[in-house]
Amino acid sequence: MTEKTIQDKVRGSLVGGACGDALGYPVEFVYSFEEIKYRYGEMGVQQYDMSYPWLDRLQRPKKALFSDDTQMTLYTAEALLEAEKNGTPLLKTICEAYLIWFGHQADRKVKAGYESALSEIDELNQRRAPGNTCMSALLSIYRGKEADNNSKGCGGVMRVAPIGLYGAKHGWTLQETARIAGETAALTHLHPLSTYSSAALAVIIQQCVNTEHIDRETFKTIVEDILSVITEVYGESAPYLKEFTDIIHSAIRAADVKLPDWEIIENYLGEGWVAEETLAIAVFSVLRHIDDFSGCLVCAVNHGGDSDSTGAVAGNIIGAIVGYNAIPAKFTVPLQLHELIIDMADAIVTKPTNTSETDN
Ligand SMILES: [Mg+2]
Repeated sequence: MTEKTIQDKVRGSLVGGACGDALGYPVEFVYSFEEIKYRYGEMGVQQYDMSYPWLDRLQRPKKALFSDDTQMTLYTAEALLEAEKNGTPLLKTICEAYLIWFGHQADRKVKAGYESALSEIDELNQRRAPGNTCMSALLSIYRGKEADNNSKGCGGVMRVAPIGLYGAKHGWTLQETARIAGETAALTHLHPLSTYSSAALAVIIQQCVNTEHIDRETFKTIVEDILSVITEVYGESAPYLKEFTDIIHSAIRAADVKLPDWEIIENYLGEGWVAEETLAIAVFSVLRHIDDFSGCLVCAVNHGGDSDSTGAVAGNIIGAIVGYNAIPAKFTVPLQLHELIIDMADAIVTKPTNTSETDN
């Protein structure tokens, strides 16, 4: 595969996630597809709703806003680059990145572990419905304790895509990628189903970047193969492994059911508030619309659950399959910080300079 193709896929995944997040953000707290239809018509939400009625009239930007999912995803990406540049431990650097983000969200003074360019960008630090578990876990860490919960909320899985992108570019083994993504999610969410879902997402994304042409059958194989990676990393008797395997199989089977997308999601896959359902809805949406970026995102957000997170995760995957150049302009042009996200993707593709070696 050419460097250009890899770059296109990495850009596609990072921008695609932001597009899905921004498409789903206005309907995250609309609690049924019926209500979405009432607002947007029979087909549900099809393009960005940039009306933002919850913002003060003067503060409404003419841009598609993404939420905390993309904010934290970009902080994950920045931390990966910082850790390599400065030779600092990966997980510790990622945790420092999240604390920088938390400081802005909670209006607390955080002593930053590294000089964060993202910390200076308002849009990445404004409150966009941050998840309760992320906030309470980071508050514990801020106070010098570890997170103490048994949460499988999707706040862990929705931010780990860059680990798969980085793993693809830097030749990590799938097991290594799984372990790092699982540990990253477990900084704030301690339930095993959050860990497995996050590990699985990063591995799926790494495989999608590493595989040039992906059709439905290829993607199905990629998804089925993650189950053996998860078993290798966490052991055959790991808790909740059966539940995880069951929901992944449900997502694959559901793709063949002859019902409208939203009906399958609401009846068989859940609402996406918890990590394994988020991943399942994303996998289902990709399988149903493997060649169609718009169709995949529309499928992923039109249900009564956590639409921005299911949109973000589906966008991360489909973007890594079709590549940035296949994303329709109606999604990229209005997207806030579009250029910054592309620059971040390109930085992942370009090996950073290790300053400890080059300082003279
Ligand atoms: Mg969100």
